[in-house]
Amino acid sequence: MQIDLSGKVALVTGGSRGIGRAIALGLARAGADVTLSYASNASAADAVVAEITAAGGKAAAVGFDVADSAACKAQVDALAKQKGLHILVANAGISIDGLVMRYKDEDLERTFRTNVFGSYYLARAAIMPMIKARWGRIILLGSVVGEAGNAGQTAYAASKAALDGLGKSLAREVASRNITANVVAPGYIESDMTNGLPEAVRDAIKKSIPLGEVGKPEDIADSVVFLASDRARYITGQVIGVNGGMYM
Ligand code: NDP
Repeated sequence: MQIDLSGKVALVTGGSRGIGRAIALGLARAGADVTLSYASNASAADAVVAEITAAGGKAAAVGFDVADSAACKAQVDALAKQKGLHILVANAGISIDGLVMRYKDEDLERTFRTNVFGSYYLARAAIMPMIKARWGRIILLGSVVGEAGNAGQTAYAASKAALDGLGKSLAREVASRNITANVVAPGYIESDMTNGLPEAVRDAIKKSIPLGEVGKPEDIADSVVFLASDRARYITGQVIGVNGGMYM
């Protein structure tokens, strides 16, 4: 299937590493002009930009905290003014693990501010430029644990479940404007976020995956690129699990 995103402008948050990096590379390869964001890792983000431009693609990097409402609006507005905006991939996310009985208020707050509020701020700011373009794609990064739950990840799982509700409600609000909104919910994917887990936990997770292997960031990127394209024009308000069958 040919996917052509030439002429489309995309913003991918958390594009400096892991899944976001693969998404930025995938969208750029399909022809989109990609702005990727990072929190503090400017050199990693610059390396992704260099990789895209060396392959003949278009990319830029911006650093801001997605938990900062004003920063999200300012960045989206600036990009929209400069180039327009067609595709938003709200990928930046954090996971602070811990059992609920000992979980700290500040960790709960940080998790929600980054994962939920950040996605909300960005989606809210992205709608107007998409309405102007009469075309839009909003893709939020959920998680298998938002649907299946996971001991030790109550805050993270709750934040990801919130994104399912955000994506579905957004989809209903903006459908008449030719804008779709979907959630891609990865399973267990190789990245900095999961590489830190103890070996025993990693092995146990692997055993729970029917397809028998851990996913790659590119597995998520492929789904996102498809959802961002015209080929997915009839898909909205969905939570698409990309998890090797880990949750059905
Ligand atoms: P990583 O931890 O590898 O990378 C996180 C990215 O988000 C980095 O680019 C980081 O920037 C950026 N980021 C973090 N906090 C902020 C912030 N406050 N403001 C702006 N940018 C921020 O994550 P993954 O690639 O593993 O995960 C990407 C998404 O996929 C997340 O939403 C995650 O919850 C979800 N996911 C991941 C799974 C997995 O198995 N890996 C499974 C299910 C869901 P910087 O480099 O500057 O720190």
